[in-house]
Amino acid sequence: MSGLSVNEGIVSAPAVLFTHSMPAVPERDARDAAFEIEHVKRAIDTVAAHLDQQAKRPHGDIFAAHSMMLRDPELWQAVQARIQAGAIAERAWADALQALADDFRAAESQYMREREADVQDIARQVMMEMTGEPAAAVAIEQPSILLARDLMPSDVAGLDSAKVLGICLSEGGKTSHSAILARAMGIPALVKARGCLEQVTPGQMVTLDGFAGLLWFAPSAAVSAQLAAQRDAWQAEQHQAKQRALQHASTTDGISVSVLANIGGPDDVRKALDSGAEGVGLFRTEFLFQRSDSLPTEQEQFDVYCDIAAALGDQPLTIRSLDVGGDKPLAAFPMPSEDNPFLGVRGVRLCLKHPELLVTQLRAILRAHQQHRNIQLMIPMVARVDEVRQVKALLQREADALGLDASTLPVGIMIEVPAAVLNADALAAEVDFFSIGTNDLTQYVMAADRGNTELTDLINYFDPAVLRAIEMTCAAGGKAGIPVSMCGEMAGDPKATQQLLNIGLRKFSASASLLPALKAQIRQTAVMK
Ligand code: PEP
Ligand code: MG
Repeated sequence: MSGLSVNEGIVSAPAVLFTHSMPAVPERDARDAAFEIEHVKRAIDTVAAHLDQQAKRPHGDIFAAHSMMLRDPELWQAVQARIQAGAIAERAWADALQALADDFRAAESQYMREREADVQDIARQVMMEMTGEPAAAVAIEQPSILLARDLMPSDVAGLDSAKVLGICLSEGGKTSHSAILARAMGIPALVKARGCLEQVTPGQMVTLDGFAGLLWFAPSAAVSAQLAAQRDAWQAEQHQAKQRALQHASTTDGISVSVLANIGGPDDVRKALDSGAEGVGLFRTEFLFQRSDSLPTEQEQFDVYCDIAAALGDQPLTIRSLDVGGDKPLAAFPMPSEDNPFLGVRGVRLCLKHPELLVTQLRAILRAHQQHRNIQLMIPMVARVDEVRQVKALLQREADALGLDASTLPVGIMIEVPAAVLNADALAAEVDFFSIGTNDLTQYVMAADRGNTELTDLINYFDPAVLRAIEMTCAAGGKAGIPVSMCGEMAGDPKATQQLLNIGLRKFSASASLLPALKAQIRQTAVMK
């Protein structure tokens, strides 16, 4: 059967068939409009918060876009209007989203038509939240090839790539988000293999050839042998690439470069190490704070920090102190809304205004560091020396209270606010390392909201102004003799590697899935002096 290849590779395994459905609109009477509006609003907020978390993960743009879609004021108006007209929350939501999906399906461009799956995805997630219906998980016990009509991004993100060896969709499209995610996860995949669900029975052995765009389910002996030979060659190549990723990378002129991983929680550590990470350059601790309605205790945090530090052996674990506020709300710590959240009380600013948030974390870090010397602390959103001093004073106070020595814990800062670049000399005298956060640095240097899709031209870390800010940071770090790393998206972009090495950067931290290609890029680059 022929389809359209969206990711190369060749795999053989039993087929698993997957279908999922939209929860039905419950049969109940409408209560007052305020109740119905609150019901759908709460579900949207929960799903959006979850998407914002997923947006932090590798290839999270899709989920960031879904979160924006959910917050679209026009959509919200359409839902409210239906409720005001007497519909229950679930009916109002289902109908408004169906209308939106219909618009996309009727669009002229292929790309827009493929966005229908994205609408269905957010529609279903909010419906599940409202009806309390559990997600139909794809139950895959053994390595398999997954066949489905279409997969939504949330389905693909939840797949275990050790068990799903290949994906074959009867629908889908080349630019559909499920295809993008399959590529990002390195899973060979076909789309538009029409009729595959009808022709293949569950458990039947199939071979997916992502080079030729074919799904084989009854090949002749000769074809089987040929496919097996191709598959073995591909697997050997994959294995080699993995082995190369595990080795340290140097440039062609022999300059050694450290490559670390950005992680969002303990679940990311295994993949980071398997992808060749030489430690963690950024642990975004927000997940600990955002996963429940109550703040994590000192002991809960301590356990997580110790577990990750132990898994890394003697390689560094850079724990970033809580970086919420602004666009990252915290259910457990409601904050007043601000006119300019990105310029508001976020990151270290929030922590210094509400030291109780930070103190528990500092105590957990100090205690974990006592057992795991590879732990270091990183402070986000620093603009001024004074902020560093205040955090350090809190650290000292808590260390004294615990009877621990704070001086052995390395303390660094993120350089992501233009003021920090301009204050870099003074800041370098106070801290043990810098890490450049190009996501925020770019938005602040360019004065362009990083989530605003109308401004993608401006949100460009190759802009000379951003490059100059990076250069100034590296120079200040170099002068003070402290290490400078980068943990924003730019660090994982192979198109930026040459420029960053030229500027003097020697430490990169990026999502695990980007590390093998990053190391390969470093190995073929010569630093221009
Ligand atoms: C950054 O701003 O570049 C960064 C790494 O932090 P975050 O993306 O979590 O804001
Ligand atoms: Mg940031």
